Amino acid sequence: NMARKFFVGGNWKCNGTVDEVKKIVTTLNEAQVPGEDVVEVVVSPPFVFLPTVKGLLRPDFHVAAQNCWVRKGGAFTGEVSAEMLVNLGIPWVILGHSERRQLLNESSEFVADKVAYALSQGLKVIACIGETLEQREAGITKDVVSEQTKAIAAKISNWDNVVLAYEPVWAIGTGKVATPAQAQEVHVDLRKWIHDNVSPNVAASVRIIYGGSVNGGNSKELAGQPDVDGFLVGGASLKPEFIDIINAAT
Ligand code: PEP
Repeated sequence: NMARKFFVGGNWKCNGTVDEVKKIVTTLNEAQVPGEDVVEVVVSPPFVFLPTVKGLLRPDFHVAAQNCWVRKGGAFTGEVSAEMLVNLGIPWVILGHSERRQLLNESSEFVADKVAYALSQGLKVIACIGETLEQREAGITKDVVSEQTKAIAAKISNWDNVVLAYEPVWAIGTGKVATPAQAQEVHVDLRKWIHDNVSPNVAASVRIIYGGSVNGGNSKELAGQPDVDGFLVGGASLKPEFIDIINAAT
């Protein structure tokens, strides 16, 4: 889609050593990819590697944190605040990843509060939503992703700095990628929900990216779907095939 710049995020999750991280950055820095005018590339290392990666990474790629605290920092042991990310010049943060929703019991309201606070501090947000296998099989995918989006929509008024990542839980880290038709169907439902409940302008401009077992082999066909505006990539973002996924933008 011409109006929405293709977006490729790499979620490194809780992986890597200093040496491994440097090696991935070297591979990215040497890669031939379209310019920033065609594709926006954002990689998300664990917090402790953020300054290293930001310092070494090519200037046309950007970095994201994988989480941040829900409000202003202070007496919250073990947390990292949005203010700290801003202070370090980290432009993006991933919020509401299904691993955090599931393993750390982050509710849609808590995620929405984080999104609103991060935006208020000037961060750009990759907000993750998606249904479980059980929910898909029960035929309630559309309701689940609408509810997750509604929680966010209730707490923000400006979507300019939000990318919505549709990540079906059954597809994350499983090798079971959504078919292009399955991804397209949910993205259309989401865009329609946003059209009806936020605004037609936001619906037309917000990037809705797909995540869940995207790899170098399946990215091209997924990228061809009119409402798939990019990807959030986990496992494959640690490998050279991430370059092929970036190149699926064209
Ligand atoms: C993710 O963690 O956001 C993800 C999509 O993981 P994977 O690509 O490994 O399925």
